[in-house]
This record gives sequence, C-alpha cells and structure tokens, in this order.
Amino acid sequence: MPSGLSYLYRGAASYARMAGGIRTYVRTPAAKDPDASIKWQLDHREDVFLDMARRVVFEDSANPYLEMFRMAGCTYGDLAGVVKSKGLEAALAQIHGEGVYLGNDELKGTTPIVRGGREIKASSRSFRNPLANATIRGVSSGSRGKPFESYFSPPFYVHAEALNAIVNREFALQDHAHIILRSTLPSLVGLMDCLAGVRQGDRMERWYAFGAGGHYSTVTSLMVLAARFSGCRIPFPEYLRDNDFSAAAERVSRLCAAGIPCVVRGPASPSVRLAAAAIDRGLDIRGTLFLMSGEALTDAKRAVVESAGGRIFARYGMSEFRVIGHGCRQMTEGNCVHPYTDSLAVISHRRQTPLSDVDVHSLLFTTLLSSAPNFLINFEPNDHGIVEPASCDCEFSRIGFRWRIRDIFSFSKLSGQGMTLIGTELVRLLEEVLPARIGGRPGDYQLIEREGTAQTSIELRVSPRVTGWSPDGIRECFLDEIRRIYGGLLASRVWRHAEAVRVVMAEPIVTATGKIHPLQLLGIEKAPAKRT
Ligand SMILES: [Zn+2]
Repeated sequence: MPSGLSYLYRGAASYARMAGGIRTYVRTPAAKDPDASIKWQLDHREDVFLDMARRVVFEDSANPYLEMFRMAGCTYGDLAGVVKSKGLEAALAQIHGEGVYLGNDELKGTTPIVRGGREIKASSRSFRNPLANATIRGVSSGSRGKPFESYFSPPFYVHAEALNAIVNREFALQDHAHIILRSTLPSLVGLMDCLAGVRQGDRMERWYAFGAGGHYSTVTSLMVLAARFSGCRIPFPEYLRDNDFSAAAERVSRLCAAGIPCVVRGPASPSVRLAAAAIDRGLDIRGTLFLMSGEALTDAKRAVVESAGGRIFARYGMSEFRVIGHGCRQMTEGNCVHPYTDSLAVISHRRQTPLSDVDVHSLLFTTLLSSAPNFLINFEPNDHGIVEPASCDCEFSRIGFRWRIRDIFSFSKLSGQGMTLIGTELVRLLEEVLPARIGGRPGDYQLIEREGTAQTSIELRVSPRVTGWSPDGIRECFLDEIRRIYGGLLASRVWRHAEAVRVVMAEPIVTATGKIHPLQLLGIEKAPAKRT
C-alpha cells in the first residue's frame, strides 16, 4: 500500500476504535454510589498500590520499575513492609531516594532512563497500566508527525465522574449553565468533559473551541455524532475565529441577564480572554464561576476574572493522570487544590530546576487507581508545589481529601494556552535549529513565558546580532519548527491562532549569576536583569 494511503487507513482505523470506545463509555452505567467508591479507594489506597506494584511491576520482568527496585535492593516484601510500617507517602519518599522514580523526559522517551550508571530499557508502552481495560484511544500530536497515543478505560471515566460530583456539590453547579472552552481533537479533554457533563445531568450550554484545524474539525464532529447516536447529546463545538472570544462572552452575559448562573470550564488563557472580552464590551457576567486548568492560575489571571465580576478556582490536571486535584470555595488565593488522594499519592522533594538556578519543591505522583491509564511510581512532571494538610471545611475535606497543594507552577516546560512542550526539545530548537536556519549562535535566542493581563504570552527574544530576518519571518520560522517537536503540532496551531507568540529583537535576559537560560519560565521573574 502506498505510504499516504496506509497513513489514511491507520488514521481511519484509529478513529473507528475511538468512536467504539466512546460508545462503550456512553453505555457504561454511572457509579451507583459515587461517594462510596471514593471512600473505598481512600480506605484501601495502600493495599491497591501494593497489589498494583506486585502485578504490574514485580510480576513483569520487562517493567522498567522492576530494574529500579532491583538496583535499590528492594524486593516486593521489603516494599510491602515499608508501606505498612511507615505509611505510603513515607515509603514513596524512601524509594525515591533509592532511585525509584520516573522523570518527565524519561516517560516521553526523550531522555534514556539511567540509574547507577546503567541504562534501563523502556518504551512508550512500558508504563501503560495493563490492569485497565483501556478502549478509548486518544491520538495526540507526536514528535515528527508520529502520533502519540493514550488509552483510557470507561471505568476510569466513571471514577472521574464520581470526583466531578464533589465539584458539582461544592460549587452548587446543578442549576448552572456549563460553558466549555476546550480544543477539539486530537486532545480528548473537551470531548470527554462534554460527555461526562451530559451523563451527570449538567446543563451543557455551549462548547467553544479554538485552534481547530485540518481534518480534526471533521473527526471531532464525527465523534460528537457517535456520542449522540449512542444517546448522549453533547454539543457540537463552535469555533471562535480570529482569537475573538466576544461570542462566548455575549452568550454568558445573555444567560446572566436571564438569571441563569454560568460556569466556564477550560484552560486559564482562553478563560481569561472570555472575561477580558466581557470587560472590553461592557458585558455583565457578574457571578460567573470560572474553573480553570492547564496553566498556573496566577494573580494576573485572577485579577482579570475578578474585575469582570467572576469567581475563579483552579483545577490541576495533566494527561498522565487526567485530574490531579481541584480547588474548593475557600481556596480564593494562589494556585491551590485538594489532591485526589484516592486516585494518586503525592510527595515533593527539593531540587534545582534543570534549566535555571531556581530551587523548587518538585512534585512526585504515584498511581493508586487500577483503572488508570498508566502505572507510574514517583512520576516527576516538573511542577513545583507545597504539599501540606488542609484545614478547610468543604466537600473535598468532608469526603477525605484532607491535603492541599499550593503555589503550583510548572518549570522546564512552557504551558502557554493550555499546551505543553518539552523543555529539552525546546532548548535544542533555540540553540541549534534556529541558529542553523536563521543565523546566530546558542544564547542568541530565548523563550520567555510572560503573564500578560489577558493571557500567557510567549516572547521569543532574538539578539540584534541576528540580521537579515524580519520579526514576522522569525516568528513564522519558529512556529514552523516547533511543529516538529513533541506536542508541537497542536501548540503551534493554538499559538498561531491566539497570536500569543511575539518576536522581540533584543538581547536575551541574563541571570544574576551571569547565565542565559534559553527558557525563562512561568512565574519566575528574574530581577534585576542585566543585558549583555
Ligand atoms: Zn477545601
């Protein structure tokens, strides 16, 4: 078969499986007693972890974690003993110190796993959870055009519904109109948020999408049709053109005028753009609730939503776990959530960030749900956060989520517009690829993620030593190249649409210790900055 046809065939087969998975999910009954399933998980989290570790790691000689445990001299019996005597989190901290963990780049396969000077063999499939009957296949943009697949099981989504029911109670969302601000495929989140909402009886008002392109709009419509044929009437996405969120702001304002409270759910930057569009047009959206995810909820973003009369809370998630935790009504400052400790364990350790000299509390997550897509032990996504007991009285605490993570921000990756890119790949782009195409040397290009008033913006600083190119030409070249790296296809499309990338012909910022970091990252302001 010619390669083009073969690609089309594989794509069609993959989407047919996705549609099949969606039908299976729609037909899977909801949990009879959602709270009971969460409480059971909380009561049995150590046993579930040990059972998963035994079956997924210790009984599979090919699992990369087994080699880490071997090198640490830790048998299954030792692990069970430490968990029972010290508790799960203390045991996880101990094995982390002995080399049992997984870095973000190690999971993505961009960095080999090396412990004690030896490389441990792994592939993208090594960390999938074989205990989950994963039938919902999400295809995301991968490195160099190769699709990156993630697998989800209907029981995993049913459990997510149980967690979502707590959010609905905490914020009294039963009578709210839900406005979803999400990308279409290849990201699954928008589609699955709509499906879960309709299954739970939410009033799904609109799904506003941005950054859609090419055949993904068509495939998304087909998936919506597949869901509707199965009896789940989710909305078709409406595309917001030209980075203009006024249609969404007007819809919210009309609902508010009719006395219908609204909740806006989506990544931080588009949510803030909706609030900014309301302010610019004098639209009244007072009382609207914003539940934000995907990027750090910063003070600048909070200020825009609050000046539009909205209330704003954080949802913390990542594709490896889907949702990590959710803010409660008492978390009205900073980027703070209750972690879902029934589904995962979280600890942190102090370290220096790989691309700067900033000291952080790096978060480590461990899977505790047998239906989860991956089985990860001490997975380090390069997010900072302070883990501490929560003293609030809320629906989350009441069910048993008695911890909080505060001051969450991402380091060594950019998270602009809800997309993420891998830091090491970006550094190669900035230090090798762009100088080769445009001119200049390493240190002449720097990417800065800035918190603007309305959205996160990406500034590409280019030294004036680089001549012969206009800023627009450099921007196009950068967006073209970023497409080739992991997750870049989607990010490029969204950033191009959002006009979020700005090229500035100026010397890169130099740190107090004289370094030029190719990536100046979210939330880290380096002052005083001196110029070379
Ligand atoms: Zn709380």
